[in-house]
Amino acid sequence: MAKVNDIRRFVEFGKKIVACGRNYQAHAKEFNQDVLPEPLLFLKPTTSYLREGGSIIYPPKCTELHYEVELAVVINKGGSKIAEPSAMDHVGGYALALDMTSRNQQLDAKKNGWPWSVCKGYDTFLPISDFIAKEKIDPFNTNLWLKVDGETRQNGNTKDMVFNVPFLVSYISNIFTLEEGDIILTGTPSGVGPVNRGQTITAGIEGVLEMKFPVA
Ligand code: MG
Repeated sequence: MAKVNDIRRFVEFGKKIVACGRNYQAHAKEFNQDVLPEPLLFLKPTTSYLREGGSIIYPPKCTELHYEVELAVVINKGGSKIAEPSAMDHVGGYALALDMTSRNQQLDAKKNGWPWSVCKGYDTFLPISDFIAKEKIDPFNTNLWLKVDGETRQNGNTKDMVFNVPFLVSYISNIFTLEEGDIILTGTPSGVGPVNRGQTITAGIEGVLEMKFPVA
């Protein structure tokens, strides 16, 4: 059966955004937390997508808005209970994403045992690049960086992931059926921090692309 959707336009038809928290040891340490024996997963709504040209909106109940630069994996072949050795066959490509977080609301949620839907799910909380062809990225060795107003804040490499891309695809597909257009956010390296209204975030994948989002 011919595919109806063009995977390069995954933002328009994808149904799920599955995010992995605490997937780089150095980032876990920033919050005095240990990495976990299994991936820590949460969902973001597709309404949080923001394309270049738009602005990140600082929500009224947020007093500390944090950036987290992450490699996004784009699924182009659905499946459930995908075995790790064939997991990469389900990956159609990649994108660069910012997992924006209302950190004060997340700390409240952690303290109270509440879900992360609010602190991770506001509109514009997932700025995302254009689709990147699969062959342009080595998921085991790719440099990600992020700057605020031109000053470097994050600089990491996907080789430092606790759970790598094929493991995540397989693990997640044992919980949620993965569908064409869904994405997986693979966690952020260290260096997360606050960004203020009026500042501009630039982020990139070394040698592949760069993107820019102002905070309004
Ligand atoms: Mg994150």
